[in-house]
Amino acid sequence: MSDVPGLAINLATVRQQFDLKAAAEACARHGISWVAPWRDQVAATGIAETRRILDGNGLRVTGLCRGGMFTTDPNAQDDNRRAIDEAVGIGATCLVLVVGGLPRGSRDIVGARRTVEDGLGTLLPYAVANNLPLAIEPLHPVYAPDRACINTLAQALDLCDTLGSGVGVVLDTYHLWWDPNLLRDIARAGEGNRILAHHISDFLVPTRDLLNDRGMMGDGVIDFKAFRRAVEAAGYHGPQEVEIFSTGWWARSGDDVLSTCIDRFHSVC
Ligand code: ZN
Repeated sequence: MSDVPGLAINLATVRQQFDLKAAAEACARHGISWVAPWRDQVAATGIAETRRILDGNGLRVTGLCRGGMFTTDPNAQDDNRRAIDEAVGIGATCLVLVVGGLPRGSRDIVGARRTVEDGLGTLLPYAVANNLPLAIEPLHPVYAPDRACINTLAQALDLCDTLGSGVGVVLDTYHLWWDPNLLRDIARAGEGNRILAHHISDFLVPTRDLLNDRGMMGDGVIDFKAFRRAVEAAGYHGPQEVEIFSTGWWARSGDDVLSTCIDRFHSVC
C-alpha cells in the first residue's frame, strides 16, 4: 500500500466499524499517517495505551475531538482542562473546540457568544501552560442553536484577535464553503498564523440529516481544490482531514471507506 502524505482520517469517519486500535491498524494498512481520535475513543482505550497504539502504527495526531460546550456545560472549564490533558497525553497537535449553542430555553445568542468568549479566556492560560493550541471550529449556521454559536471564519478570527496567542481555527469545508468572504478570511487566518486544521467532507444536495448525512468528497457541491489552494496560499500545508458523519458510510466496510477516502483525496481534493 502506498503512502498518502497529506491525508488525515478523523476517526468519527469509521467509528461504527472500528474501535481505536482497529482504526489505527486500518489507517496504517492504507498508508495513512495522520488521525484524529475522539475523546470517547481515547477514554475507552486509555491515554497511555492510545499513545502506544498510535506510535506503534506510525500515526500522528492532528486534533483531539473535542472540547468546548462553554454555553451549555456547567462544568465546561473542568472538562476542557481534562481534554487538554488528554490531548497532551496522546501527542495531539491541538484540541478542537465546538463552542456550544444556546442554553436550553434561551433566545439570547448575543449572550451565548459572550459566554463563549469568557469561557475561552478562562481556559486559555491552562492551554498555553501546556503548550497545546486551542482550535475554534466555526460551524455552519444551522448548528447555531444546539452546537456552536460561532458560525463564520471571520467571527472565529475576531475571537482569536481578542484572545491573543495560543488559539486558532479549524477550517472545515462542510461548515465554511458557502461563505462569500471565505477567501478573504482564509488569507486573514494565514496572516495571523491561526490555521490549526483543515477538515474535509462534502455538502450533499439534498441533505437528509443535519448531523449524519455528510458527503464523501466529490459527491456534493464543494470545490475542494479551490478551497485547498486558498489554504495553502495562506501558508498552511498540514494534512487534509476527512471527517464524515454519515449513516450511509458507516454502513460500509471500514476498508472500503478508507479506500474511497484515498481515491477521492487524489481525484478531487
Ligand atoms: Zn470539522
